[in-house]
Amino acid sequence: MHQMTLAEIARGLADKKFSSEELTKVLLARIAQLDPQLNSFISLTEDLALQQAKAADARRANGESGALLGAPIAHKDLFCTQGIRTSCGSKMLDNFKAPYDATVVAKLAAAGAVTLGKTNMDEFAMGSANESSYYGAVKNPWNLEHVPGGSSGGSAAAVAARLLPAATATDTGGSIRQPAAFTNLTGLKPTYGRVSRWGMIAYASSLDQGGPLARTAEDCAILLQGMAGFDANDSTSIDEPVPDYSASLNTSLQGLRIGVPKEYFSAGLDPRIAELIHTSIKELEKLGAVIKEISLPNMQHAIPAYYVIAPAEASSNLSRFDGVRFGYRCEDPKNLEDLYKRSRGEGFGAEVQRRIMVGAYALSAGYYDAYYLKAQKIRRLVKNDFMAAFNEVDIILGPTTPNPAWKLGAKNSDPVAAYLEDVYTITANLAGLPGLSMPAGFVDGLPVGVQLLAPYFQEGRLLNVAHQYQLNTDWHTRTPTGF
Ligand code: GLN
Repeated sequence: MHQMTLAEIARGLADKKFSSEELTKVLLARIAQLDPQLNSFISLTEDLALQQAKAADARRANGESGALLGAPIAHKDLFCTQGIRTSCGSKMLDNFKAPYDATVVAKLAAAGAVTLGKTNMDEFAMGSANESSYYGAVKNPWNLEHVPGGSSGGSAAAVAARLLPAATATDTGGSIRQPAAFTNLTGLKPTYGRVSRWGMIAYASSLDQGGPLARTAEDCAILLQGMAGFDANDSTSIDEPVPDYSASLNTSLQGLRIGVPKEYFSAGLDPRIAELIHTSIKELEKLGAVIKEISLPNMQHAIPAYYVIAPAEASSNLSRFDGVRFGYRCEDPKNLEDLYKRSRGEGFGAEVQRRIMVGAYALSAGYYDAYYLKAQKIRRLVKNDFMAAFNEVDIILGPTTPNPAWKLGAKNSDPVAAYLEDVYTITANLAGLPGLSMPAGFVDGLPVGVQLLAPYFQEGRLLNVAHQYQLNTDWHTRTPTGF
């Protein structure tokens, strides 16, 4: 039962082959049995899950239908869940029970999805390895000595290990696509503004975007359908109609123009990954796509720009965690300054403190023009590169990551080494574009992802290309041994 995709579950539930309650019980038992190896959950919500499953079964018995009605999922632990701990992977929020549901959580619940729990993540979504969580590192089900990617590593590890079919995640600089690549999943970062950020604890507000992590493009279409849409509570949410993502999956790729940026194949890329990317390009050519070499000349400046803008926004967003209003408060503060200092010093982990300091420095008077303003100018150049490229091609294709998942702890002493691994994913966030990662093969038994980028609001196109690719390849069907 645990091998089923969301699409298969929807069919099984519609055909009354099993109930949502039965399936939920099977998956909860599987999580209890297998998750201790992975640490992919911060909180389990068994009672809520069984209650939602029963309610979904009752709705189906009353004639209701819907792809998510009775479908088990989990939420990355930065989506606020009413009355349930929402920790953001931090000691700072270890005691925080959200007073309301995030829009994404509310929408999926209304569609009948069943919440099994809240997944582990890098603290405040800062990281690429899921090692900065207050609740401990998450392990990659493909090799327990390796990281699952981050910051949505818990969602990725849980779905890859077949503990559940799909989960929500967020992507500020790659945190949906990179863990998808590291764990052999399909993950989609939507266009900025497509999915509401209301109730999604902010890291870098101009870059953060929620999206689905699942095994197939077909499942990402189902989950995105439940997440996307205008929300008056989020001032950056865009009032555009949400297309039927499943309807466009079967469009032919005949004549699809795919751009392959020459800058992607530079020295930093593992040659074995480059080879797998070229194989996936050939596969898409067989399906009718036309390949064109393109250039994204400002790509090399994207990492330094991102690692100024994201920490700058984080330093501002995280100022609300002051030990006064909510979250962690230190013991016996001597005075107000001591309260602030110790609450923040004890409540935030090392990586979060590093980012706050970098961000506060970049925004300070005297340095603002040299760092923050400069980074914003680079951001515009990166966007302009994409706009020029999309005049010539429909989709941009390349690797999701330069290397496969590294060993736990391998980059702990050198944060910049980890930052450099984001080279292929962060540009989409800087430009606000949608991006998808899908399985493209293995290197040393570890999964490799191929990334597709599209113009604004063309999530349907990305899902269509990925689905056609998945109809003709079987990488996405591989299961990690032991799961
Ligand atoms: N690795 C990037 C960072 O640490 C991206 C994280 C994310 O997308 N949340 O900022």
